[in-house]
Amino acid sequence: MKKVWQECIECHSTYYADIIKYRCDCGGLLEVRMDLESLGDVSWDKFRSRKFNVWRYFELLPFEGYNRVVSLDEGGTPLYKCEKLADWLGARDLYVKYEGMNPTGSFKDRGMCIGITKALKLGAKGVACASTGNTAASLAAYSAKAGIPCIVMVPKQAVALGKLFQAMLYGAKVVRLEGTFDEALNLVWKVAEEVGAYLLNSINPWRLEGQKTVAFETVDQLGRVPGYVALPVGNCGNIAAAWKGFREMEAVGLINERPSMVGIQSEGASPFVDLVKEGLATLKPVEKPSTIASAIRIGRPVNWKKALLAVKESDGLVAKVSDNEIIEAQRMLASLEGIGVEPAAAASVAGVKKLIESGDMDANDTIVCICTGSMLKDPSPELIKGLESIDVMPNPELVRNLFAYLLSRRS
Ligand SMILES: *Cc1c(COP(=O)(O)O)cnc(C)c1O
Ligand SMILES: [Zn+2]
Repeated sequence: MKKVWQECIECHSTYYADIIKYRCDCGGLLEVRMDLESLGDVSWDKFRSRKFNVWRYFELLPFEGYNRVVSLDEGGTPLYKCEKLADWLGARDLYVKYEGMNPTGSFKDRGMCIGITKALKLGAKGVACASTGNTAASLAAYSAKAGIPCIVMVPKQAVALGKLFQAMLYGAKVVRLEGTFDEALNLVWKVAEEVGAYLLNSINPWRLEGQKTVAFETVDQLGRVPGYVALPVGNCGNIAAAWKGFREMEAVGLINERPSMVGIQSEGASPFVDLVKEGLATLKPVEKPSTIASAIRIGRPVNWKKALLAVKESDGLVAKVSDNEIIEAQRMLASLEGIGVEPAAAASVAGVKKLIESGDMDANDTIVCICTGSMLKDPSPELIKGLESIDVMPNPELVRNLFAYLLSRRS
């Protein structure tokens, strides 16, 4: 039997695995813990005999058996070696883990398969979340698969159209709030507990159990531990989840090195980066977060204490990038490597470029950028602006001349 429980990251009080709780009685964040001795035989050979998705690493997931597992075949995303992108930003050995290849187009699916499976185990009558878009899309899809009612609350006018469409098409009840994401999360959290809906924001520690598999896959694919793992940071869950994955691999003997975790935020929404850089004792929220990267447009990240531990324990780095730097990185990823990502996902690449230029990051080490979501999520006019297309009349002569001209141009 696997021994699994929930534990406060601050006072280390423990709670049963099947108690619904989003914070410790002391107010601290909860983490899912497992007695690593109780997991049975864990080895790369065993993992690699299975299909390449989140469930390949079943021994390290907090469930006993596979029955009633809700899955859309999430995870198993490509790790691309990017030589041209490396040249552009001055790195020697650069990889992109492309999370846009998940079923709903973002890494959120890694966590939702676990979160919804847990919701069913707990007998929840419904699930809910606040979202900047991707959590809503993912929760909606997994709720549909599981056949459980789903309510998502998004900040009105601040969600990428593709994400909103996903949530509606998958059949979630979509509620648009006249307010920010941070306000939405506060409200949903409070009300969900009152009406008995299971909250599946990243404050829910079970979701992070799925998201930690990005670390397993990265080592599985690379065959070694990279020097740096860079991620965009919004509510601070994913960087903490990835770090938990590395720590657990180390604890069970699958790896014997650690990467440095690198957290990137946007200039207009950088409370976590400021916290680390200025060595503040507590997070100073950003009341009106603003950035083109809507997935990380968050001013009051709930998981900041977990993310801070991740950066500190891993001897990590942080950086903030401008919207222009994000758009530039998005265009370079696409035009040099054929990797289409949404703005938040491009922030990891923009941040790595900045950290190499400043000399804070060792350009000779292996760098993995986690590119968290697909470009198809967000075709907003400001992202298309400046990209080219040409109109032509249906005249063969014109079209021939045009093609000849276009082929003769260098780029
Ligand atoms: C959710 C999300 C993030 C931020 O992850 P956190 O866990 O909130 O820090 C980054 N990029 C994309 C595309 C996302 O959907
Ligand atoms: Zn506590």
